[in-house]
Amino acid sequence: MSELNLLKSLDYSVLQQCMHCGMCLPTCPTYDETKFERSSPRGRIRLMREVADGRLDVTETFAEEMSYCLGCLACTTACPAGVDYGTLLENARGEVERRGVIGGPARRLFRWANLSVLFRHPRLMRAVGRSLWLYQKLGVQSALRKLGVMKLLPQQLRVMEAATPTVVAPFSNARIKRIEMPAAPAKYRVALLTGCVQDLLFSPINRATADVLLANGCEVVTPRLQYCCGSLHAHNGELELARDLARKNLDLYDVEKFDAIISNAGGCGSHLKKYAELLHHDSQYHARAVAWDRKVRDVSEWLVEIGCRAPQSAAGGVRVTYDASCHLLHGQKIAAQPLALLKLLPGVDLVPLAESDWCCGSAGVYSITQPEQSAKLLGRKLEHIAATGASVLASGNPGCLMQIENGMRRDPRLAHVRACHPVELLAEAYRREASRIGPGGAE
Ligand code: SF4
Ligand code: SF4
Repeated sequence: MSELNLLKSLDYSVLQQCMHCGMCLPTCPTYDETKFERSSPRGRIRLMREVADGRLDVTETFAEEMSYCLGCLACTTACPAGVDYGTLLENARGEVERRGVIGGPARRLFRWANLSVLFRHPRLMRAVGRSLWLYQKLGVQSALRKLGVMKLLPQQLRVMEAATPTVVAPFSNARIKRIEMPAAPAKYRVALLTGCVQDLLFSPINRATADVLLANGCEVVTPRLQYCCGSLHAHNGELELARDLARKNLDLYDVEKFDAIISNAGGCGSHLKKYAELLHHDSQYHARAVAWDRKVRDVSEWLVEIGCRAPQSAAGGVRVTYDASCHLLHGQKIAAQPLALLKLLPGVDLVPLAESDWCCGSAGVYSITQPEQSAKLLGRKLEHIAATGASVLASGNPGCLMQIENGMRRDPRLAHVRACHPVELLAEAYRREASRIGPGGAE
């Protein structure tokens, strides 16, 4: 027990911040479900402190509680003491992995294949994406499903198979040139991060992001091959792998040459803005990481900052509702900007979504690790979406879009509802405007 653990290695003030006031309890979806103190932010912080102090060992129960937490960070928005719960959770999960208290060879193999191999090698990721695209496009997946072959899989693989997202080709490198210039002289120069999951599943969002940036006077630089930001690794307790990916990303960009580094994925952005903290012991990279953190912006944040131009063309009476991604809202504290962009759209009826600030149950790999709780949260979200009567659901994170799209497809009340990123609606409005005005400028 005297051995230094990851929680113990943290600045002790981080552990002492919590004053046990309980303000976070009503905002926590897992406490709401169980009403157990140990499943609350306050309870988990208490457990972490006990581990740091050497009074509690890292047991299976401790590990399960850390895994049951969504990492949604709603507690950090509610907390008057500014507890850095995200850092605590990452280190607690890191300690769980270091001690190897949970999981057998299958879990270890799954984590190694994904975290150490797939999500660290972008070329391999694209190759796997292409194979999956073919498998889906040629109808093999639907044929196997119809034949009932999937029912033979072990339970966890069945859950994963049912949630397999649809790969969308072509990927970002085929949709976006390395450098694209706006029609008028550029006012800003920005780098565009295309993500790993977003690149395979939502490359049209990346194209729309580039289009909206161009329409607002930005020169857009998009490296052809980019690395995963490492958020998946950090949130799953693999901090060394997350550091390795952060360094690789920092090596790709000459930060000083950009006005901003643009992310359009709430979860990634939240992690990308904390590279300096992640690399605080790294004398070679820390200064660069500080400069990087200062430049990273969510696309909605950047567009509002530079005064996004309102499109002139109406969408025609579309009812839109907005679901806040937890890491965009609670991690990055970006609440008003996506709504401000949606309000710029002429002809759009923007209706509020109840509990927009409540997690949809996606939370990285939560739908795989905690399928029951994830399904409960998704069900709750779908009820609220149905109540809005909206035909479009906008959200700023690929994980949330995947989870909600999945749920809506299976719900007859919502099967017609389109899930998309706010920038896609903006890009479409600019395109409508351009086709109405025509290349010569005439209406
Ligand atoms: S991150 Fe979310 S689930 Fe975890 S303790 Fe905080 S509010 Fe609860
Ligand atoms: S709101 Fe903050 S200080 Fe209060 S109990 Fe929760 S984590 Fe601790």
